[in-house]
Amino acid sequence: MATTETPRILLIVGSARSGSTLAGTLAGRFTNASYLGELIHFWDRGLALDHLCGCEQQFSACSFWNAVVQNAGLAGENAMARHDQLHAALKVHSLRRWNTPENRTSDYQDMLNLITRLYESAAQIARTPWLVDSSKHPIYARLLVDCFGADRVHVLHLVRDPRGVAYSAAKKRPKIDSGRAGDMMTQRSYLQSGLAWLKVQVSAEALRGTTGTYQRIKYEQLCEFGAEALMPYLNELPEIGVYSPQFKTDHTVSGNPARLAGFSKINADTSWRNEISGINASTVAAITLPFLIRYGYANAIGK
Ligand SMILES: [Zn+2]
Repeated sequence: MATTETPRILLIVGSARSGSTLAGTLAGRFTNASYLGELIHFWDRGLALDHLCGCEQQFSACSFWNAVVQNAGLAGENAMARHDQLHAALKVHSLRRWNTPENRTSDYQDMLNLITRLYESAAQIARTPWLVDSSKHPIYARLLVDCFGADRVHVLHLVRDPRGVAYSAAKKRPKIDSGRAGDMMTQRSYLQSGLAWLKVQVSAEALRGTTGTYQRIKYEQLCEFGAEALMPYLNELPEIGVYSPQFKTDHTVSGNPARLAGFSKINADTSWRNEISGINASTVAAITLPFLIRYGYANAIGK
């Protein structure tokens, strides 16, 4: 289905290691949707650093992204400068200070124009009106609302037990989609992970009522039920089509390296329950306690 209309965006937000790539893959199987990975990293990991696309080609060799870049007129952009500008804006535009006059600079407006061109071009080349974006950063939703309007941005908030997130983030893991041997995924201490997790949940929950729709889903349910966990929400999104379970190649920027194998279901990573130390589990639980209780994780200590 060709479209030149403003795209609709399903933005997946939440902590790292919370199943966003799996959720994106499943949502991208709706007939009117395309999963494009973490578009927040289009500028650095795509255009500048030439990481692997989900089709297993280098970004620069992927015919889909080549067409998107040409169509949007982005070929001459200084991609790393745009990446830096975007992340500076995400820092400045905290939830409290969103949309104040001093933040709406001409630089910010230029960036919105570029991002709008990117998404419109991607929707045209993909020939689907819906784009699924697992950028994860809650504040990025505000930026997309500034580009496309609130009713075009829909938020799926994934939550996972923060002790599982922290355990996973503390492990050394190779970053195979960088295309360079020896590159590793970002490692975080338990303290860093607990604080980052808390910040993400607060910001993500603050999006409720500011976008077209908002739905919170647990990673643990996503792992157990796969697509079924998402259907009650996704089936209600306007004009997203019908779910088709067949494998399809997604042209994705960044995300879990497992996307390169086109996975459709993951076993819940529960090894942390047996392997996390008591002190590390307690550190994360203490930092995140209000939300640990809110999401029903407080009793699942598993030690
Ligand atoms: Zn590709």
